[in-house]
Amino acid sequence: MKTAVYPGAFDPVTNGHIDIIERALKLFDKLYILVGENPQKTATFSPEERVGMLKESLKKHNHRIEIEHFNGLLLDYVKKKKSNVIIRGLRAISDFEFEFQRAQFNREFAKDVETIFLMTKDDYAFLSSSIVKEIAMFSGSVKGFVPAIVEKKLREKFRK
Ligand code: ADP
Repeated sequence: MKTAVYPGAFDPVTNGHIDIIERALKLFDKLYILVGENPQKTATFSPEERVGMLKESLKKHNHRIEIEHFNGLLLDYVKKKKSNVIIRGLRAISDFEFEFQRAQFNREFAKDVETIFLMTKDDYAFLSSSIVKEIAMFSGSVKGFVPAIVEKKLREKFRK
């Protein structure tokens, strides 16, 4: 069985993430979605909320994905799941430097783990969790950018 780990903060999940997940599911039998913490940022949603939104949005793929929060090193999680592939999405050039450094670092510590990059779909090239939160904060519409459950949770979070 071919498996891969897709890590991210998913704060919250966007249609850009969903697109990467659905495309990865065409390449792998099972996908482990790791909801992690980004030490550089304070999350808007709790780990439970982030996992909950992902689960609700990906219901139809239930049998082929596992979604959980993990507060530790990505490589430890990959080992725990007995996988050897990390999936990451790439948007603009600006993602490249960060991702390149991460992939090199991970290779240094686990030679048998490969990072595979899936290029963003054009429609989602500008889409990020931060932009979505910014729009929602100022009562803009995020329809079409995030799953319905996320739209609802954003409205609740930023209700004035
Ligand atoms: P992180 O904080 O680890 O970057 P994110 O939740 O922001 O976590 O993103 C997880 C992964 O999904 C990253 O590889 C990121 O580049 C990718 N990603 C996020 N948004 C998009 C998008 N619109 N199109 C393609 N990939 C994306």
